[in-house]
Amino acid sequence: MRKKFVAGNWKMHGSLAVNLGLLHALREGAADLPAQVAVCVPYPYLAQARSVLNGSAVAWGAQDVSEHAQGAYTGEVSGAMLQDFGCRYAIVGHSERRSFYGDTDVVVAAKYEAAQAVGLTPILCIGETLAEREQGVTAQVVTRQLEAVLDRCGVASLAQAVVAYEPVWAIGTGKTATPAQAQEVHALIRARVARNSAAVADGLQILYGGSVKPGNAKELFSRPDIDGGLIGGAALVASDFLAICAAG
Ligand code: 13P
Repeated sequence: MRKKFVAGNWKMHGSLAVNLGLLHALREGAADLPAQVAVCVPYPYLAQARSVLNGSAVAWGAQDVSEHAQGAYTGEVSGAMLQDFGCRYAIVGHSERRSFYGDTDVVVAAKYEAAQAVGLTPILCIGETLAEREQGVTAQVVTRQLEAVLDRCGVASLAQAVVAYEPVWAIGTGKTATPAQAQEVHALIRARVARNSAAVADGLQILYGGSVKPGNAKELFSRPDIDGGLIGGAALVASDFLAICAAG
């Protein structure tokens, strides 16, 4: 039986003052929830997340990681640096990285590998754009994105990873995929992994992301292949995020 997992992606939001209240509320509010809970915060706030969340039920992580271990890569942050700050997770391949910063399938797979090389659990984001959905190529797109990682790192690596299906058209738009639409793609992702390893597919947590709110979380999370959520906007409001965690 897979455990439910709810992760917040704060994106480029927050300040030391605002984060403090949010992190303390999560520390207290997530103490007795059955779901696993994590927050992925901007790099400068990792030390603050560690200081408030250390010893709590809430894990923390980053929203990206360099594909390089170290060296002359101005502006980049390595997996080892994230480890230094107690991160458990690193998001890789978020659609905002893919579309605004040129993270190709190959780069995403390299970042996934770099995260695992230092013991971080990558949260691999995949998902189609609106145009791709309308062209009827959703299955091909998510399969291609997944296979870039399978080809580079092998199916066994997914035993140490989380996948997030985030349809780009549902991110920050208030337009959520219906539970049936999301379930269909989650099942397809799991079936593709099962072609290589039924056991890995069975244990893989596949999160849904895209306008998850307290009002729609329970119905989404009740589908057989939806193992929780990756939450953007609603993760910035403690009561909303905790309500979504409680639905897991
Ligand atoms: P929203 O929940 O704001 O739609 O963002 C989803 C997302 O991109 C999480 O990574």
